[in-house]
Amino acid sequence: EKIFSGFSKTRDNLAVVDELLLYWNLADTDRVLDDLEEALLVSDFGPKITIKIVESLRDDILAGKLKSGSEIKDALKKSVLDLLTKKGSKTELQLGFRKPAVVMVVGVNGGGKTTSLGKLANRLKNEGAKVLLAAGDTFRAAASDQLEIWAERSGCEIVVAEGEKAKASTVLSQAVKRGKEEGYDIVLCDTSGRLHTNYSLMEELIACKKAVSKVVSGAPNVVGITGLILTKLDGSARGGCVVSVVDELGIPVKFVGVGEGVEDLQPFDAEAFVNAIFP
Ligand code: GDP
Repeated sequence: EKIFSGFSKTRDNLAVVDELLLYWNLADTDRVLDDLEEALLVSDFGPKITIKIVESLRDDILAGKLKSGSEIKDALKKSVLDLLTKKGSKTELQLGFRKPAVVMVVGVNGGGKTTSLGKLANRLKNEGAKVLLAAGDTFRAAASDQLEIWAERSGCEIVVAEGEKAKASTVLSQAVKRGKEEGYDIVLCDTSGRLHTNYSLMEELIACKKAVSKVVSGAPNVVGITGLILTKLDGSARGGCVVSVVDELGIPVKFVGVGEGVEDLQPFDAEAFVNAIFP
């Protein structure tokens, strides 16, 4: 599976875990846990989670609850899985309670928003949904061309800005309006890249959100981010960031990006992920 190969470098980073645990004995505990700590840090689990995992393993080992390398490995896998699933939030896209469902992507420049939206359009279209794309990135001139290529590739319709000075919120509300009138299942809205520190761009984002939700439900809605797409995990040895991001933000990962191609957006499955990095 692709998700597997997408995390192969992280798996290589963590392969040391198997070696450590294979030869583990009680007297070695401190050394093994130090090495495990390093492997987790190198794979970007972050200090907070790494310490949490390692100290809980140490407690269980010293309390006699974990008696072999393979028991320690199982406990390690379970604690990572628990971290990914404890909030109980769904990793599947939650669509369909209102038509059209509206998905808006936000993030920094170059993060992979437009590409991920294109891949998502293709995936949803293949699942039988009627998908409308909305080119709401009105700052980056090429973004709308890029999204048009994805629209063509996936056979979806697209709404783009009319005129050079069109506001993002206008484009998006036009798209959602059309989505509603023409019976689309889902409208996927691209937005410009921005950092949360840029006040006027954040204001624009709020305006977009309000405009879009007003069309769908008649009421402005500024509820925050409901899911994450973690991009560019292919070729990265730092898959542990998935765990630290979920723990830090308390928001589920819905998809992972593992390449630039149309098929390279995988629904995130916590158990498959854990098995991929700790085979
Ligand atoms: P945006 O500014 O957030 O819309 O970012 P883009 O969608 O334009 O992506 C920036 C670059 O990253 C493009 O060259 C994409 O092809 C590339 N990219 C996006 N997602 C992935 C991914 O999952 N893996 C890899 N390797 N490249 C990606």
